[in-house]
Amino acid sequence: MRVPLMNLKAQYQGIKHDVDEAIRNSIDNCQFIGGPQVKSFNEAYAAWLGVKRCVGVGNGTDALVIALKALGIGPGDEVIVPANSFIATSEACSMVGAKPVFADCLPHYYTLDPVDAAAKVTPATKAIIPVHLYGYCAEMDEIMDLATRHNLFVIEDTAQGHGALYKGKKAGSIGHLSTFSFYPGKNLGAYGDAGAVCGNDEALMERVYMFANHGRKDKYNHEFEGINSRLDGVQAAVLNVKLPRLDEWNRARNYLAGKYSELLRDIPQLELPQVAPEREHVYYVYTVLAQNRDALQAHLKLHGIDTGIYYPVALPYLPAYNTYGHVPADFPVTYDLQSRILSLPMFPEMTREEQIYVAEVISSFYQN
Ligand SMILES: *Cc1c(COP(=O)(O)O)cnc(C)c1O
Repeated sequence: MRVPLMNLKAQYQGIKHDVDEAIRNSIDNCQFIGGPQVKSFNEAYAAWLGVKRCVGVGNGTDALVIALKALGIGPGDEVIVPANSFIATSEACSMVGAKPVFADCLPHYYTLDPVDAAAKVTPATKAIIPVHLYGYCAEMDEIMDLATRHNLFVIEDTAQGHGALYKGKKAGSIGHLSTFSFYPGKNLGAYGDAGAVCGNDEALMERVYMFANHGRKDKYNHEFEGINSRLDGVQAAVLNVKLPRLDEWNRARNYLAGKYSELLRDIPQLELPQVAPEREHVYYVYTVLAQNRDALQAHLKLHGIDTGIYYPVALPYLPAYNTYGHVPADFPVTYDLQSRILSLPMFPEMTREEQIYVAEVISSFYQN
């Protein structure tokens, strides 16, 4: 049996008719930039998230840059980001001329450690970017308290957390702004690059819109310089077909995670994902901590099972951040995780047989 890590083909088979028609309509109507599909996606996504406004943009990395710019963050400013994330989170800070300052992550939950984040606050700190990593919410109460105490902005990087819940609130509806990626493999994915910035503050969201559109309100009236980063019409049409199915897909992921946890709970060499009370995980990936991780990954590969490592080298230890001179002891939890994390196949269409096969191959590895 072959089990992929994600299965975009299986998802497309289920929605092919609607997606093909939506794409064809966009092209028939030549609605490439802006237009009714973009407008209706922005409105539907804001309503689904429970915020006043959503501005579709080119991708999730631009979304972070645009959010930082709209908040006026730039040279001389520091932004606290988790050591354990995709590089887009820290890259966006550098892109606007600010300095990303890393903080360690929590054991068991893997999201930003609010205590270490507090220790990293200096007079130059302007914002914190918690990441809802793997589909699990960061500790938003503690992070919002910290932000209030020091007068900081909070941008929720929700690229992996579409639909995750924190104490009844959706991830991405809590901070001053939130950003989303609709990269094809994300819980809500377009058929190319796409992203969004969301928020409740009308004036701030207008700056977001303008920055993503060359600093203009209308055609050639530019109030400031911005960039060109827009959600295109064809991608919006695809997202409009997929958004109504997102909650159902997330429920399927949750069900599969429960099944994994049953199948794998008697393997002492694994630590399974944990979910604190009043949280709902959306399992962008199902990540375990595994003893002898590299050998387990090779064993799974040999048996046709694809896995992922998010991320094999944590941000502070990447060549891109060599100049910071970070050592393992700076982020002990993150450093320890990078050699143990392993993400197992997870996609809403995954079958019972596929899951049982994955569990059997893992058991056989530890029994030998
Ligand atoms: C995917 C991702 C991004 C970037 O999104 P793109 O759409 O690929 O630019 C940002 N942050 C995190 C945590 C991500 O996983």
